[in-house]
Amino acid sequence: MKTFTDLGLHKLVMKAVNELGYETPTPIQLKAIPQLLDDKDLLGIAQTGTGKTAAFALPTLDYLLEEPALRRPKSTRVLVLAPTRELASQIAESFSNYSRYMDCVVQTVFGGVKINKQIRDLSKGTHVLVATPGRLLDLVSQKAVTLADIEVLILDEADQMLDMGFIHDLKKIIAQIPKDRQTLLFSATMPKSISELANQFLNHPVRVSVAPESTTAERVNQGVIHIAAGDKPKLLGAVLKDPKINRALVFTRTKHGADKVVRKLKSEGIEAAAIHGNKSQSQRTRALTAFKDGSCKVLIATDIAARGIDISGITHVVNYEIPNVPEQYVHRIGRTARAGKDGLAISFVAEDELYYLRDIEKTIRQSVPVLDIPEGAEVSALPTPDPSIRARKPKGPSGGRGGGSRHGRSRPGGQRSRDGGQSGGKRRRSSGSNRNRNRSRSKAPA
Ligand code: AMP
Repeated sequence: MKTFTDLGLHKLVMKAVNELGYETPTPIQLKAIPQLLDDKDLLGIAQTGTGKTAAFALPTLDYLLEEPALRRPKSTRVLVLAPTRELASQIAESFSNYSRYMDCVVQTVFGGVKINKQIRDLSKGTHVLVATPGRLLDLVSQKAVTLADIEVLILDEADQMLDMGFIHDLKKIIAQIPKDRQTLLFSATMPKSISELANQFLNHPVRVSVAPESTTAERVNQGVIHIAAGDKPKLLGAVLKDPKINRALVFTRTKHGADKVVRKLKSEGIEAAAIHGNKSQSQRTRALTAFKDGSCKVLIATDIAARGIDISGITHVVNYEIPNVPEQYVHRIGRTARAGKDGLAISFVAEDELYYLRDIEKTIRQSVPVLDIPEGAEVSALPTPDPSIRARKPKGPSGGRGGGSRHGRSRPGGQRSRDGGQSGGKRRRSSGSNRNRNRSRSKAPA
């Protein structure tokens, strides 16, 4: 079996890796790290929980050590773009952890917090900037940061960024980054829009993928309860009284729904907190901290807010409403049964959600067993639908939850820069060339 030592990472990076207790590289790390050390562009198909952050962070830090350069005011050498504040913070934390033995400045910028401090922090420049696209563009337009010195660009959870309507922002950002950079794109899924993005912005990328979390799905015990929509609050209260619950993550489809569930649980004496896009950063941080330290065992989240959050020890995932995109189901249940532990994922399915359940079952190639209603719940289950009868897709905007991106926040396109000038394979960085970019200004260690 290959070890981290076989990968040939710089000793200062290795020192941090050892200290963090990582013994063997994960599959995505084994596949990606040698290619990235060789300066290749990379298209990585991997989900959260696979170790993808280290897969891109470790070789990037190795590069900064091998090619040291002075920080320049208002500039960054590495840019990581991520869809949500939570993911951005988590990536930045990983970079800081992995770079603890080198002189590397890591900064994070995202919306929803005051911009002035971010402007001040960026004035001296940074080595690694982790950003959400909208706030980064604000900072660029305020001339708080320039993208002209970027040598490594990493797009993380690119499918999610596209779902959230960031495509124009991404194009505007990439248009300002030198073409002789190294570009890495990570995505959990590979829809056509992602391959188009990769064709446009990556230069002969090496493609690596690791098994989707359906392998994780095998370790998760899954169950479904058929229940009238109006009975879901009571059922949730009963399910959450299970003493085996250590940490439960409950998914709702809407932000409003998440708040309603919290209020209902609190009225039953169950401590719960919600994270979603309408919560302030400090509210989200507080909720996550309480969930992580165990003072609050139940976290209610929307899909977007929960993406990319790495919380260990989640024993139960409850799909209060099931998602209409099967991959989202796989993402959700993958939150439990991490690190070889078992987990239970329970889905509440109302009559008009049956179609989506069948769709999920097709994707995961297994039928989800029906669970009994917990004792003491003052509700009764709906009869189990006959699996041989095809469920009909709900119609209309409210019943039909399908149709386009549920998160489809449309963002103003602004003046679109055609394609960032990257199309047509004009960018030709021969291996190692970008590593030479800064040699002339290698004056101090990174
Ligand atoms: P990620 O997929 O990047 O969110 O990583 C998931 C979790 O795995 C994080 O908590 C990492 O700290 C951890 N991790 C990443 N690589 C390794 C490794 N090689 N050995 C053990 N844990 C790891």
